[in-house]
Amino acid sequence: MTIPRATKIVATLGPASSSAEMIEKLILAGVNVVRLNFSHGTAQDHRDRAALVRAAAERLGVDVGVLVDLQGPKIRVGKFAAGKVMLAVGAKFTFDLDCELGDEHRVGLDYKELVNDVAAGDTLLLNDGQMSMRVDQVTAKTIVCTVLEGGVLSDRKGINRQGGGLSAPALTDKDIADIRVAAEIDADFLAVSFPKDASDMVLARRLMQSAGGRAATVAKIERVEAIANLQEIIDASDAIMVARGDLAVEVGDAAVPALQKRMIRMARESNKVTITATQMMESMISAPVPTRAEVSDVANAVLDGSDAVMLSAETASGSFPVQTVQAMARVCLEAEKSEPITLETEFLNRMFDRVDQSIAMASLFTARHLQVRAIAALTESGSTALWMSRLNTGVPIYALTPVKASRNRMALYRDVTPVFFDYNSREREEVLREAEQRLVDEGVVTAGDLLIITIGEPIGQSGGTNTMKIVRVSASPRSGTKAVSNLPLDLRH
Ligand code: PGA
Ligand code: MN
Repeated sequence: MTIPRATKIVATLGPASSSAEMIEKLILAGVNVVRLNFSHGTAQDHRDRAALVRAAAERLGVDVGVLVDLQGPKIRVGKFAAGKVMLAVGAKFTFDLDCELGDEHRVGLDYKELVNDVAAGDTLLLNDGQMSMRVDQVTAKTIVCTVLEGGVLSDRKGINRQGGGLSAPALTDKDIADIRVAAEIDADFLAVSFPKDASDMVLARRLMQSAGGRAATVAKIERVEAIANLQEIIDASDAIMVARGDLAVEVGDAAVPALQKRMIRMARESNKVTITATQMMESMISAPVPTRAEVSDVANAVLDGSDAVMLSAETASGSFPVQTVQAMARVCLEAEKSEPITLETEFLNRMFDRVDQSIAMASLFTARHLQVRAIAALTESGSTALWMSRLNTGVPIYALTPVKASRNRMALYRDVTPVFFDYNSREREEVLREAEQRLVDEGVVTAGDLLIITIGEPIGQSGGTNTMKIVRVSASPRSGTKAVSNLPLDLRH
């Protein structure tokens, strides 16, 4: 009896991973959610990828979430006549709003407001912090700088201001158009780049809902202002992403590890989901094995309590996308084994005002004390499974539901394995028996094991969970049982 991998894997699709075969291989290697990065490619590229993912998931009988990641107001330099330039330390360099094609003295900017947001003495970081410049002088149309860290600057590389403070709104016109695409492809998650406070997240959700979408919202924490407003952003979102790429540039790289731990703790305490992202397996873009440091980074993200760890260029444009996912899955599984399982005692003092949440918490308490093998949550919206998964009990949670959208969403939740299960129009006793039998047939529990089943009465009402049943499993696998999926359950999460 295998315990499924608790931590989920988000993989970005791109040129290296957009064929039907590759997408299928990535899912088999352990991808739970795919990320469509709207900073690159056309809307049609993303529509095509989403369709391929849905088809592959259907073929394999697994639940794979689709996450649309909006570009946001990433400030970029314009293009160079030669595609790139070499900038030496100490050289003068100017950002010039009127410059069409750049050279080694100047380049254009796509964000015209930058001249109002910076002042002499500021530090600008380019290309994810690989190069930096000091601002010497700002005029109505130019920002004159001195190169502090030199290197090659190429077309459309990003610029950040150290310390944050850029006034760009989180949702650009392109993002607003892309939200309609997200609704059209029925994305399960919508990630907002560079939100600065709750209002950005509220607006994104409103735009998405009015476009007919039902995606869960993910706030990418990647600017200084978002750290100051973290709790309100968490409250206004379904999930947060520790977006270490831009965050490191804004707050300084050394501040990121501690922030990662704080963000994950705060999100979990608020019943929200977390994704730890960027450069997790960076060297695997061009190598078939990770570095020791990358293995440690992924393992530590697991120990910090991340719901999911994310791959960016490793799967989007790297040479070893499948090996990267396999390596990541292996590291997660091992880290989970070493994780201390503690149900904080303060949890006993928490107050709930909802019946379903109380049942979720009661089942965790019971599962710990009775040495229960698994929890089966019959759920409509997935919220019971979400609450159960916010506390680390080490007991796997199987979320049984006929609702496809809920299963896709739960694909991101740590410790939760979504399972297709149709409980509609059946008697409660029969449903409970069938749920037990289903987990026996899947090899999750065996005769003699204790199993907790939570259910609502009447069945199938969102937020209706009001019953916890403790079952001593008596059933044995039905002979000739045909699993619903082509994959064993431990691969299907
Ligand atoms: P990005 O976001 O990959 O869209 O930049 C993640 C990050 O900044 O870490
Ligand atoms: Mn970013």
